[in-house]
Amino acid sequence: MKRLSRTRANRSYMLFLISFIILVGVIWSSVSLVDSSSEVNQQLPSTIAPNKDVNNIPTGTERFKIVLDAGHGGHDPGAEGASGNYERDYTLSLTKKVSELLQQDDRFEVHMTRTEDTSVSLGDRVKMANELGSNAFISIHGNTFTDANVSGTETYYYTDESFAFADEVHKHLLEATGFKDRGVRKGDWKVIMETNSPAILLEIGYLTNNSNETAMLSDEHQNVTAQAIVDGIKSHFIQIS
Ligand SMILES: [Zn+2]
Repeated sequence: MKRLSRTRANRSYMLFLISFIILVGVIWSSVSLVDSSSEVNQQLPSTIAPNKDVNNIPTGTERFKIVLDAGHGGHDPGAEGASGNYERDYTLSLTKKVSELLQQDDRFEVHMTRTEDTSVSLGDRVKMANELGSNAFISIHGNTFTDANVSGTETYYYTDESFAFADEVHKHLLEATGFKDRGVRKGDWKVIMETNSPAILLEIGYLTNNSNETAMLSDEHQNVTAQAIVDGIKSHFIQIS
């Protein structure tokens, strides 16, 4: 009886041991499954993060710093339009409208290089954007040409990083102005060459063209144009963030 019960005890012990090993195996494999799947999940944000750094996207409660640059001003009148009005007044009026609309969105912190008819050097406009660490720089202009028949909307960029931004704003702008599409072009304007963030220069239309100028000087056209610029900015930042 003693021997028999010892054998039974050994068998029970062996069964227990085998069950225990199997149990440990099952637990280990399920834990490693959970581990590897959580690793996959953890890797997703980290693959997006480097792109965010490239675009200098603010985190947490920080906001996108947008610098709006009303072209010319003060001693520099800019283009003289068909009616004798100056570009500096058009750019300031439109830029103020863009600023008011963009400020309504909490995601953006809006800065203007000038808010009145004052002279601001091109270097100071760039300096302001770079010292702020801007996320985008938008210079607003009205175009001029010796041939009054030339009309249409042009959007300029200089760095490759600025192209997508230029393209997005241009699309919205074209729809709003209803002017001829003169394209997204590379241009070596100082303000868009030397600003560190993506930077674009908008030539909304030709002030030397009668029909473009009449539209551009109307309050209604400026409101629609301002909204289009804001839509372009928002659309771009939604895509990259
Ligand atoms: Zn200009």
